[in-house]
Amino acid sequence: MIKVRNIHKAFGDNPILRGIDLTVAKGQVVVILGPSGSGKTTLLRCLNGLELPQQGSIDFDGAEPLHIDFSRKISKADMLALRRKSGMVFQQYNLFPHKTALQNVMEGPLVVQKRPEATVRAEAQALLAKVGLADKADLYPFQLSGGQQQRVGIARAMAIAPELMLFDEPTSALDPELVQGVLQTMKALAEDGWTMVVVTHEIQFARDVADHVVLMDGGVIVEQGSPEAMFQNPQQALTRSFLRQIQ
Ligand code: ATP
Repeated sequence: MIKVRNIHKAFGDNPILRGIDLTVAKGQVVVILGPSGSGKTTLLRCLNGLELPQQGSIDFDGAEPLHIDFSRKISKADMLALRRKSGMVFQQYNLFPHKTALQNVMEGPLVVQKRPEATVRAEAQALLAKVGLADKADLYPFQLSGGQQQRVGIARAMAIAPELMLFDEPTSALDPELVQGVLQTMKALAEDGWTMVVVTHEIQFARDVADHVVLMDGGVIVEQGSPEAMFQNPQQALTRSFLRQIQ
């Protein structure tokens, strides 16, 4: 279980997140929807320590529990632990251009976690197979399609064995014909029991795969619930108008 409480984040005088509470159960897929500028990316970045909120907390339970109170000074060890617990998949893949697909996937466990190369290599090969790229291990990003690069991005995020996978609009930079392959890969992860928070505009994915759907606007959660409740019986006018616009 991951509990996010009362997250506030401002850039200068500009409040972007204004008290976000979110609970993600182990194995759950939470989809975050919302208009451009509503703070979705900023929230994901706060969840893995790429941005520091001014207020709020995050709690991971389980074998190695972690409690971070963002209103206090955070130790280096806690910050590393937070990064270790969440793997991020970016909109623009963010692969190292001078490294092969396999080397990209090996980077985190090898360089950051300093694990033995032979084990890391075997695991990275298995992860590339998992995302359907067993035969592309030795290719460089420029030799791969956008969809293949994004699937390398997913394998790379999985390689540190995070407790939480964060996806920031993973298909929005892709040509339309490549979107389904990436969504299928994410669906397979969900079926394998990964805990996932996904920012996306892919409503069909949200309907099929999400356990819980959240609508953000103006740095707050406007409404949240099961996909059935959110899509068939939204309670808030903002939810209804957002869904009308994107469907
Ligand atoms: P989109 O769907 O367009 O990606 P979003 O909901 O993910 O939007 P964010 O990217 O979180 O929204 O941005 C929310 C607001 O925060 C925007 O107004 C953006 O300009 C601002 N913002 C984000 N990062 C920074 C930053 N590093 N410095 C200043 N302002 C920022």
